[in-house]
Amino acid sequence: MKGKQKRIAIVGAGIAGLSTAYYLSKLAKQGGLHLDITLLEKEKRLGGSLLTEKVNGFLMEGGPDCFISEKPWALKLCKELGLEHEVIGTNQQTRRTFILCGGKLHEIPEGFMLLAPTSLWPFVTSSLFTLPGKARMGLDLILPRKKSDAEESLAAFVRRRLGREALERIAEPLVAGIHAGDPETMSLKSTFPRFIDLEREYRSLIWGMKQRKKQFANITPRYTMFITLKDGMEGMASALKNSLPHDICATGQEVVKIEQKADKSAKKPLYRLSLKGKKRPLEADAVVMATPAFVTARLLQGMTGDIARQLNTIPYVSTATINLAYERSQIGHPLDGYGFVVPRLEGRRIMAATFSSVKFAGRASQGKALLRCFVGGAKNEELVSWGDDKLAAAVKEDIAEILNITGEPRHVRIFRWEKAMPQYTVGHEEKLSRIERGLANLPGLYLTGSAYRGIGLSDCVHQAELTAQQCLEFITK
Ligand SMILES: Cc1cc2nc3c(=O)[nH]c(=O)nc-3n(C[C@H](O)[C@H](O)[C@H](O)COP(=O)(O)OP(=O)(O)OC[C@H]3O[C@@H](n4cnc5c(N)ncnc54)[C@H](O)[C@@H]3O)c2cc1C
Repeated sequence: MKGKQKRIAIVGAGIAGLSTAYYLSKLAKQGGLHLDITLLEKEKRLGGSLLTEKVNGFLMEGGPDCFISEKPWALKLCKELGLEHEVIGTNQQTRRTFILCGGKLHEIPEGFMLLAPTSLWPFVTSSLFTLPGKARMGLDLILPRKKSDAEESLAAFVRRRLGREALERIAEPLVAGIHAGDPETMSLKSTFPRFIDLEREYRSLIWGMKQRKKQFANITPRYTMFITLKDGMEGMASALKNSLPHDICATGQEVVKIEQKADKSAKKPLYRLSLKGKKRPLEADAVVMATPAFVTARLLQGMTGDIARQLNTIPYVSTATINLAYERSQIGHPLDGYGFVVPRLEGRRIMAATFSSVKFAGRASQGKALLRCFVGGAKNEELVSWGDDKLAAAVKEDIAEILNITGEPRHVRIFRWEKAMPQYTVGHEEKLSRIERGLANLPGLYLTGSAYRGIGLSDCVHQAELTAQQCLEFITK
């Protein structure tokens, strides 16, 4: 029976690979199909950048610490996995974020929606911007729409509509905190397409945001914008694993090469996956690559040089998160917010910090505080290669000055993420089109994951579901 089953290999068990395996199994079950699915992961653990550690009563997130409820797919998956009761929102008493400016923390004015203000008074009275800076941002209300269709970087867009100060003091640090990217090279179209829509529809960003806000004014969302799991984000990987038949997940299995098997008698192509340290390759009727783009490029190199070339043009940056656990009494700052981001002009090593034990419940016990700092990214990548002591010292120095901290943290935990964050630079969509054209010649081969259409967890889950549907359609055709 097993020999007749269609075989699908999924390479990489981060959120993308695990979700693809989940949706494939679910869809197959619904359709009464028996598939032989194998999820190959080179590490001993599943989850990729989903990594949670409990250290002496502190719940530390190494990778993602939350996902956004506005994009419904990750939440929907959590519900399907029976994790609904585990989903928790942000602390509503301290709904604010700070920006470091001139060495001091300034609150992002209320009503500010990522780039543009939607409430006049908090913006006018904000200490974050200078008077000329505010006036320049206000010009957005009268500036005409962009005429050409040429693709723009995020920086060019913000400078054009809101001015240099808005770019330096708000857009650049906020975007660095999400994508660890450089706004000068980032594609607006691939990272924040809704700003293009806003300009098209309303001309002014400020006016457009205000109108959108009005449309949603009467809807009370069930969840806060950022949500997480009570026991940490790695719980999502564990729940996905537990939902799968036990023989699907193969850890410690590094795929080193993928080839198409030249079997003229077969109606459809067969793929052959070579595994490190294994003599016998694995054969599959369909393959889903859920690995970083540069790994996928290397594995497909022998089969299709052109797709590999395109995949290699998607740049990646390295980052690190440093969790610092303190006694609450050591910290002079009231920690009355979710954290802060740091503009590049401030010349600090950290690019963002989250007050983890304030933002979410259960991250530290009473009287303790957990802070999570984010370093590296497009502008400061070399920090990630610093040794533990040097990196921890630099981060502790920055955070102590900014938050008025005395003494040493009780625990420090560093998580390094080498080339784990893809960058959607100008021209990203064009690269994806070329890759898709190339894939048309390789039926049964699919690419999914953060490299392509959204780096957030929810986007990865969404893309995985679509990939599973396409793969199943192919296999049953
Ligand atoms: C520090 C950090 C913080 C983040 N914060 C957030 C956040 O708060 N919210 C949010 O929504 N998103 C966040 N993100 C983004 C999000 O976590 C990632 O985009 C997403 O987890 C990527 O999932 P993936 O499955 O595509 O890739 P990965 O998680 O990188 O998984 C790829 C897997 O492939 C495996 N692999 C590689 N090569 C091979 C091979 N040859 N053979 C077999 N297996 C292989 C790897 O070991 C890995 O397990 C963050 C990312 C990082 C790094």
